[in-house]
Amino acid sequence: MGVQTGGIAQLNRFRGLRTHMVKVLIPREWDRDEKRVASSPDVIKRLSGRKLSCRVERGAGEASGFQDEDYAAAGAELVAPGDQAVWSDSDVVLSVGPIGDRISQLKPGALVLGQLAPHNNNALLDQLERGQLSAISLELLPRISRAQAMDVLSSQANIAGYKAVLMGAASLDRFMPMLMTAAGTVQPAKVVIIGAGVAGLQAVATARRLGAVVSVSDVRAAAQEQVESLGARFIAPPEQGVPGETGGYAKQATKSFLEEQREGLAVHLNQADLVICTAQVPGRPAPLLITQAMVEAMRPGAVIVDLAVLQGGNCEVSKPGQTVAHHGVQVIGADRLPGSVAHHASALYSRNLLALLEVLVDQEGQLSLNAEDDLLNPSLISLNGTLRRTDLVPDRATPQQEVTQ
Ligand code: NAD
Repeated sequence: MGVQTGGIAQLNRFRGLRTHMVKVLIPREWDRDEKRVASSPDVIKRLSGRKLSCRVERGAGEASGFQDEDYAAAGAELVAPGDQAVWSDSDVVLSVGPIGDRISQLKPGALVLGQLAPHNNNALLDQLERGQLSAISLELLPRISRAQAMDVLSSQANIAGYKAVLMGAASLDRFMPMLMTAAGTVQPAKVVIIGAGVAGLQAVATARRLGAVVSVSDVRAAAQEQVESLGARFIAPPEQGVPGETGGYAKQATKSFLEEQREGLAVHLNQADLVICTAQVPGRPAPLLITQAMVEAMRPGAVIVDLAVLQGGNCEVSKPGQTVAHHGVQVIGADRLPGSVAHHASALYSRNLLALLEVLVDQEGQLSLNAEDDLLNPSLISLNGTLRRTDLVPDRATPQQEVTQ
């Protein structure tokens, strides 16, 4: 990855003046359909205890079950949504997703923390550069032990895996568990889970708890033991051309590997009642593992839940936010599952943010960004407008001081 070097930047330009408190803003999410909020009242209390001044836009927590009064009781100042004076006076903005056009109202040196979707996002990088802003994109935190408590990908994927199975089970024309009744015996549902990362493993555990028979496909060798320890069967990938992995993530597979993998999967899909798709490769389109023809070969009444739909989908038929009926198979393009469990998703997300802020904020409530810290080196995409991840947009003009890591 291309990373520009940089030292420690004090975010608070008034460092040393005891009267200046770092002002943290928790806005309503820019995406109107986003139900989560970046900070729970509980976490506001903890941030206030660390001498940060917290402001919350009215109604920010409403869709996730947190009321304005709870924020006020926790020590936050309630402010009007979108108030330009508040935005231009904030030092730090905490958000779940991208903050949209409001980014242009921030003052130079302000810091944005959120899942900013920076891959191939020239517009975002331009805004950060132009506004001399700093930004930590939480999707880019490294998967190291020190970062576990901050890992928003894990906390949210865990929820997605759980909810995907519940949605799938609710849409099925049959039971999940085996049942022995006076009217006869019902066989357990056959569930295929594609991808055994955080979401996939939670889906395995949830489907097993509901009594289904579960098979799982992944390309990483380490996944086999994890899958089997949860009582599921591992579907081995093709032997030739396994994509390998970097930092625990699968690499992009070749076309011929995927073709062979699809052939192997087809046998399992033909028998499946429920398929949960979670296979992803960071920063790349999701691997296509279920073609339209493969859907057509499945039994009518089967259900596919595609969690990778926003990255192009593991299933050719899936569409973001829609349920498509194709040859009697329901294909659910599940793009917002963490938001469908908004209360707990927000509570966990805000604990992730708190864990990161505890590293960035000292005892005096002053904030500093050490670009060489293992946590920030990959995730601090901009430091006061200097872009640090030149690999996020491959065809973007690269600055001269770039070093490759
Ligand atoms: P992810 O969302 O990037 O991908 C989901 C899964 O899809 C991965 O298991 C991946 O191997 C799999 N996949 C990719 N291509 C595939 C294909 N062609 N066929 C089948 N499966 C395919 O992954 P994630 O959930 O973010 O987890 C990535 C890794 O990070 C895992 O190894 C996980 O255990 C690890 N992890 C480590 C920590 C930590 O140490 N702090 C925390 C969380 C996750």
